[in-house]
Parts: sequence; C-alpha cells; structure tokens
Amino acid sequence: MGGEINVTERILMGPGPSNVHPRVLKAMATPLVGHLDPEFLAIMDALQSELRWLFRTENELTFAVSGTGSAGMETVLVNLVEEGDEVVVCENGVFGERMADIVERCRGKLIRIEAPWGRIIDPSDVRAVLAKCRAKVVAIVHAETSTGAWQPLEEISRIAREHGALFVTDHVTSLGGCEVNIDAWGIDGAYSGTQKCLSCPPGLAPVTFSPRAVAKIEARKSKVPSWYLDMTMVRKYWGQERFYHHTAPVSMIYALYESLRLIREEGFEARFARHELNHRALMAGLSAMGMTPFAQEGHRLWMLNAVNIPAGVEDAPVRRRLLNDYGIEIGGGLGAGKGKVWRIGLMGHSSARRNVLLLLAALADILSSAGLPFSAGEAVAKAAGIYAGASG
Ligand SMILES: *Cc1c(COP(=O)(O)O)cnc(C)c1O
Repeated sequence: MGGEINVTERILMGPGPSNVHPRVLKAMATPLVGHLDPEFLAIMDALQSELRWLFRTENELTFAVSGTGSAGMETVLVNLVEEGDEVVVCENGVFGERMADIVERCRGKLIRIEAPWGRIIDPSDVRAVLAKCRAKVVAIVHAETSTGAWQPLEEISRIAREHGALFVTDHVTSLGGCEVNIDAWGIDGAYSGTQKCLSCPPGLAPVTFSPRAVAKIEARKSKVPSWYLDMTMVRKYWGQERFYHHTAPVSMIYALYESLRLIREEGFEARFARHELNHRALMAGLSAMGMTPFAQEGHRLWMLNAVNIPAGVEDAPVRRRLLNDYGIEIGGGLGAGKGKVWRIGLMGHSSARRNVLLLLAALADILSSAGLPFSAGEAVAKAAGIYAGASG
C-alpha cells in the first residue's frame, strides 16, 4: 500500500472536471445517513425541485442519475429508443458520435445528420431528413465540448415536433453556464453532468423527461434493456413510493445540492454574464497571441474555448509546462483536432478573471521562452481591456 493521497492543487481549465467550490467539498464531508433516512429523503426532494428550476421545467420525471454525464446520455436514449425505432442523431463532434453509438446499441435504426467539426447543424438539413423517414427521436448536442460549437435548438425542436418525433438534447457543458430552457424549447428528454458548469465532482447526471417522453416509455413493448438505468424502476425511488432500486450515492447528492445552492445565490443572469465576460476576455488575449477560434463564428461557446494552436507550436510540451510550472490544466484536441486544437474550459467555478489572466500570462511566458514572438504584456492588456470596458 502506498502513502496518503496528496495531489497538487490544480486550476482546472480543461473540458472537465472544473474546479469545485470549497462549500461543495465541505458538503461531501457531511456524515452519511441511510439512503432511505427521512432526513436524506428531504434533501432528495429539495434537490429534485431545484433541478426542475435549473432545467426550467415542470417535468415530474426530473432527477439525478447515479453516474457521469455519459450515464445521463445513456439513460435518456436507452429509455426512449426501442428496437427498430428510427432515430435521427445530429453529429458534429465526439458527443454526437457517442449518442449515435448508444442508439445502435439500443438497436435503433440510426440516421445520421453530419456537419463538419466546429460547425453547427443546419435546421434545413434536419427538415430534409425528417421528410424522408418516420423518426421517433431526434437527438442533438447543445454545447459540443469537442469543438466549442454552440448549437441553437429552438428551430430544430419545432421541426422534430412537426414530424411527431421526440426531441433529445445534451446539456452536459451548457447547463449552469448559459441559458437552458427545457419547457420553452419543447425538449422531451435532456441530460447533463455535474462536473462541468455545475462545478461539482463527476458522479451524477441530472436528467429530465417530458410527459410525452414518459408516455413513450410507458408504451414500450419491450423492457428497457438496461436494468440500472431503467426509469420505470428508478422513478419509484425518486417518487412517492421510495422503493429501493440501488443505493443512492449519498455524498454526491449532498455535493450537488450545495452546488445548486451556489447557483441560486449567484442567479442565472449574473452567472451567464460572468461566463460570457470571461470568455470574451480570454479570446481577446488569445487572439493577441495569434490564436484563432476553431468553432464557427457566432456559435462559439463561453464555457469551452477551442482555439487553433499557432503554427510552429507543439501541443503536448506546452500543456505539460502549463501543468508542471503553473498548475494549470487545459485540454488538447479530440479526434481530428488532436495536436491542432486547445480546448480551454471556463466552466462554473473555474470561470474567473484571475484564471483568465493567469493562463494568458503563463501561455505567453511558455511560448516566448520557446522563441516565439509572444508578449505576456500584450495578451494580458487585451483581456484587461475587456474587463475594464465591462465594468464601466
Ligand atoms: C463531458 C461530456 C459528456 C460526457 O460526460 P462524462 O461526465 O464525461 O461522462 C457528454 N456530452 C458532452 C457534451 C460533454 O461535454
């Protein structure tokens, strides 16, 4: 057996996890109670109603799946897709690909709509595909963390509804960082994860199902193929019956409860404005160093900034020095973006002015010491200018 776990403190500016507020860590150290203890059930009830507030929904079937964001994705799809169902998946990055993989594992008939990485899905492509099939479900990612693209949802939602399909959306990176409005946008099945803009450790996946989605689940001819993620069973634990299904991850529930309290205290408007401002400042500083955004103009996420690595700069050594010399983690590219793109997260508690300015100074230091003509002064000044403009 090795020694005590002692990790170095990090500034988490990658694609997740993000830094966690000390109050959330403290909540996790709360003594355990049983998962059917009345005091715990009261916390679950409060959490459930806060999740409805966060998702902006009245959906009864709203709660947190025991598992990370991918478990949320699998929960929504495995319950809504039955063998032989035609399912349209929009694919413009890693997480759209993951949805498509799950649909195939559910034995759905997968119909892909693709866009190049970094670009958004065009609603007219969805309209054209839906005219030619009898889709039961249309699935799409709101914030594509692999590319930094921000997908508008309302028009595609309308198109799906016109064609009688349920609309399923991934909010793992968007929830808590920008507007998500499940009911107003006509979304039938949605999921998120705790480790991105909710700034809670990885381990829970908030999900919500509309009454139309619940009706489809109740009309299934076959059992949900996953026992663990079967909503017809899990809902009996979160609902009035309180039937034992699996033991709730008690400490994670405490953590999510506290992280939602923090979001309440800050308020949506202030929180989203903070994410937007830090994004603008970061991008101004990066562009002073010649870095260009990877995602389509007008559709760039505040929470995940994907930039092209400047010519002549090697990816891995720079990220290694950021980590070793400054304790800062940023993300490398995925798939086609590997070695070519950096993904810089400004999620939840990590989205902070001090992190933006420190990262810019650190990057400029590392790049200029490698002989590239970058000045920390200029990058930081550009970002500081954005902050100065915002305050007044
Ligand atoms: C991170 C992420 C996921 C997967 O979440 P995990 O917590 O890693 O399982 C799914 N979708 C998107 C858009 C993500 O960013």
